[in-house]
Amino acid sequence: MTGFSDQSVAARLHSVRERVAAAARAAGRDAAEIRLVGVSKRQPVAAIRAALDAGLADLGENFVQEAVAKMDELGHAPGAGPAAWHFIGALQSNKTAAVAARFDWVQSVDRLKLAERLSRQRPAALAPLNVCIQVHVGAEASKSGAPLAAAGDLARRVAALPQLRLRGLMAVPPPETDPARQRAWCRQLAALYFALQQEGMALDTLSMGMSDDLEAAVAEGATMVRIGTAIFGPRA
Ligand SMILES: *Cc1c(COP(=O)(O)O)cnc(C)c1O
Repeated sequence: MTGFSDQSVAARLHSVRERVAAAARAAGRDAAEIRLVGVSKRQPVAAIRAALDAGLADLGENFVQEAVAKMDELGHAPGAGPAAWHFIGALQSNKTAAVAARFDWVQSVDRLKLAERLSRQRPAALAPLNVCIQVHVGAEASKSGAPLAAAGDLARRVAALPQLRLRGLMAVPPPETDPARQRAWCRQLAALYFALQQEGMALDTLSMGMSDDLEAAVAEGATMVRIGTAIFGPRA
């Protein structure tokens, strides 16, 4: 046992929804414009079932094999509910085919080659794959994500690929405990997002905010938050 019960998942999901609602209220925003992705990496299928039963409509996974095994067990096919599955982890080129065939979204597109492969490999019978450009915000050079200065150009190129639908930007800012610093990182991503919208790109997804910084992300304009531990508890 990993310490979860159906009830604890449902109760935690409820408190996360209340956190999102409170953060939206504090920012003068409508909570309905903020989509909640439950990040279920290294969580058992039973926990996912509990979250789906409690109304969660979006799931995020980081590891291709683990995610596909869970989809098989739950009978998920892209576009065929009850939830949309989002790939949010580091993606290697040799794993793009499985991701293109099985997921509804890929939020971690950080280079053109990856996007081109996903577009080519997305089965023609499926709707275009929803994608976000993952942008590197923060000081360390090693983290994944396109550099902030290059992300706009990458977004314009990805938007032109036929079997992809560019939805917006995603980031995993460096961990901070100070809310002002959390907000400063989120603001960097938001500034690029709003600039791309200004130049006419039809983007609707600003994906930022995790268990520890969701309030900061919502304050800075997040339209999608990705929450793991606060919904599912500590990971195995
Ligand atoms: C694990 C993960 C999350 C969720 O993190 P928590 O701190 O558990 O909420 C969100 N986004 C990405 C990209 C992740 O890898």
